[in-house]
Amino acid sequence: MIKHELTKEIRKLSDLLSLYQNAYYINNKPLVSDLEYDRLYDRLLILEQKNPDLVFPGSPSMRIGSDLAKDIPEVTHTIPVLSLDKGYSVESIRDWMDKTISRAGSNLSFVVEEKIDGVSIVLYYKNGILDLAATRGNGSVGNDITDNVRTIKSVPLRLTEAVDIVVRGEIFLPLAKFENLNSLQEIPFANPRNLTAGTLRRKKSIDVAAVPLDIFIYEGFLDKGDMSHIEILGYLKKLGFKVSDSLGVFSSFPDTISNINSSWFTGGFDSLSAYVEKQTKERPNLSYEIDGLVIKVNETDVRNSLGFTGHHPRWAIAYKFESPEGTTTIKGIDIQVGRTGRITPVARIVPVLIGGSTISNVTLHNQDYINLLELSIGDTVSVSKRGDVIPAVERVVDKNEKGNTVWQIPPFCPSCKDSLIKKGAHLFCNNPQCPDQIKAKIFFFLGKNQMDIDNFGPETADFLIEQNSINRIPDIYSFNYNSLEGATGFGSKKIKLITDGVSQSINQPYRRVLPSLGIPELGKKAVELLINAGFRDVDDLIQIALEKDIEKLVSIKGIGERTAEIVISEFSSKIILDLISDLKSAGLNFREEEVSDKDLLPQVFSDQIWCITGSFENFKPRSLAGDEITKRGGKTTTSVTGKTNHLLAGDSAGSKLTKAQNLGTNIVSENEFMEMLKING
Ligand code: NAD
Repeated sequence: MIKHELTKEIRKLSDLLSLYQNAYYINNKPLVSDLEYDRLYDRLLILEQKNPDLVFPGSPSMRIGSDLAKDIPEVTHTIPVLSLDKGYSVESIRDWMDKTISRAGSNLSFVVEEKIDGVSIVLYYKNGILDLAATRGNGSVGNDITDNVRTIKSVPLRLTEAVDIVVRGEIFLPLAKFENLNSLQEIPFANPRNLTAGTLRRKKSIDVAAVPLDIFIYEGFLDKGDMSHIEILGYLKKLGFKVSDSLGVFSSFPDTISNINSSWFTGGFDSLSAYVEKQTKERPNLSYEIDGLVIKVNETDVRNSLGFTGHHPRWAIAYKFESPEGTTTIKGIDIQVGRTGRITPVARIVPVLIGGSTISNVTLHNQDYINLLELSIGDTVSVSKRGDVIPAVERVVDKNEKGNTVWQIPPFCPSCKDSLIKKGAHLFCNNPQCPDQIKAKIFFFLGKNQMDIDNFGPETADFLIEQNSINRIPDIYSFNYNSLEGATGFGSKKIKLITDGVSQSINQPYRRVLPSLGIPELGKKAVELLINAGFRDVDDLIQIALEKDIEKLVSIKGIGERTAEIVISEFSSKIILDLISDLKSAGLNFREEEVSDKDLLPQVFSDQIWCITGSFENFKPRSLAGDEITKRGGKTTTSVTGKTNHLLAGDSAGSKLTKAQNLGTNIVSENEFMEMLKING
């Protein structure tokens, strides 16, 4: 490659990586997957190693990605707080181990730990008391978030000995807790790491305390130079720190290693590959996320002589798990209009099998995202399953025949042809009568997390909307479903199931009805805050909108100015007022009775996690069973994990029941559950 092209590529890679770092570390909203970030980073490293004269002074390879926030006080670290070197195969890790042994000039043992996917933290203790908790920051300066970290129950505030010590650890949110909290979020977080990072930056520590964060400590810095790493970890446990029990020690003389903890694995170097395989297999069963393993030199005196680069210590390396990718072609780009009018371009791709499922559609988010990828129809692209769940286009592998074109979102709504308006990174259709918007609102209302209308799936909704039987939400309650008799796919049995589902949904409580209307900012969490603050009737909200009393709304803890403004404008709008009035006439709940102390149910399910599956005789819709659990202090999740205490299994329970049986989770039948409710109020 000629020099000016190389300079251009290095500059482009540096700029892109800096942009991605900012989105990931500061905004907690990654623009690309870790796999793609690492691919670009590795490409930059190769180019820079071959052309050291072309390295830009501020190159992302010369320093760690900084999570330093400007609005939080800064502190200087007394230890280097760096990142890790990376490898993607056991062979590359073995190469690194061999090189490290020859560099050290002596036999070494290595410790393999889980690489916890959370947020890095440094804890400073003085005389055994927690004195400071600081983020990694830029490696030498971090943010002081002591008050927030103090709220985490597994962080010891006082150690069992009055020592001065600095420890490094990873703060994370267990998966079951993440699922629970995320189900209440207006816009769900992509993964537990982002929610953890966002929580730790909260202004008020009381808000942090509401999130059940956890910690693992993996490194201790103390004045006992003769201790090996595993001896230090054993000592940290004694001091009261939470250290992972999942650890392996590998040496050419495994018999000479005295294990500090009986659950830790010990073996020769030849057992490393099998250990990595076993850890990789066990990953999906863990109750927290890991994104790899960390291999570290056990001898701390050798660590000191090996030292650091500006980016990582020379005595440790991360083995990163791969996330699955596949190559395909963009067939076309559709535009979806959301229930709030938000426009989302979605790529239709030639179906491709990735990580066990076939992907045919991939979201492209917005125009900025498309510009960043320089993407167009006909391009060959690499698609990944981000966080192993949401598919994403990672990069253009080959441009289409026309060459360097970038697809543009048309300036008009594809449904109603109104001009689109830009708000932030997204385009919106502002026409409340837009057919696609109305359709999205009806779909949202019917959804599992909203009114949960049994037997009223998307196909039924689509059919009824297409043939103009349902034009707005209240039509769901006034339409005569018997008139469908004879239409293809609508036998009398199906019609009865739909009619039952619709009439049962009238029992849903106000706290579920209101968020189902799809009013921006008024998700489950905001509605709960309003109800708890005394706004128990929809008329209270209509009244406050009439008075335009923003102050009163903002004074409710957790309700911000934006939500308050939306409440005022939406509950003054004729469309919303008509909608509420029609649904009230249909019999839906728009009021929640006050619960007096004597009505409070015994909190017998507190600290318990329940999952619900199958269908029930006494709970129609099924979400009513979940309400009984939460009223008694329990929590419900949508999937069975190692942390689930009980699975409430109704008729035709499927894969969740099998998983619970495999995990040994307690399985509760509907009859048993009814008995429990009877005994406990
Ligand atoms: P890293 O997260 O890959 O590794 C270093 C971190 O691992 C340490 O800071 C530490 O906090 C953590 N860790 C967890 N368990 C550990 C253990 N047992 N021992 C030691 N450390 C442990 O590196 P990084 O510099 O924090 O971030 C770089 C990575 O972040 C990239 O490789 C990429 O995966 C991701 N990233 C992604 C984007 C994106 O846009 N998707 C952007 C920037 C960074």
